Amino acid sequence: MCKHILNAQVAIRSPCCRKWFDCAECHAEQENHSLMQSMEMVFACKKCRKVFRKDAQQFEESDEYCPHCDNHFVIEAKTPQAALSVESDDVRVNNKMLKDERTRQQKLRSIFDPDEEADKLG
Ligand SMILES: [Zn+2]
Ligand SMILES: [Zn+2]
Ligand SMILES: [Zn+2]
Repeated sequence: MCKHILNAQVAIRSPCCRKWFDCAECHAEQENHSLMQSMEMVFACKKCRKVFRKDAQQFEESDEYCPHCDNHFVIEAKTPQAALSVESDDVRVNNKMLKDERTRQQKLRSIFDPDEEADKLG
C-alpha cells in the first residue's frame, strides 16, 4: 500500500524491473536503481483490477480514464504532507511565505533552507 499518494487509483508497472508500484517514490524505496522512463506506460486499475497501456507521448484527456470501467485515475494526488500541513510549523511558515512576493520568499528560503534538500519536508 502506497504511503505517498493516499488516493492512488492505479498501480504502474515499472519498465526497469517490471514490478507494480503505486508511485515513483515507492519504487525508490524498494529498489536500489533509479526508475526507468518509458513512453509506454502499463497501468493496473485499482477499481476493476484490469491492466491497460497508455502512450505517454499521446496522453489526452480521455486517457485519464480507465478504458475498462471509466475510473478517473489521473487525479490530484493526496499526499500525507498536505494532510498534515496544519500540524507542521515548517509548512505553515512556507504557506505564509507563498503569499509574499517571490523575491522575498527566495531570500527567506535561503535563510531557512541553506540546503536545497531541506525543502523536502518529512
Ligand atoms: Zn525498477
Ligand atoms: Zn508511493
Ligand atoms: Zn478500471
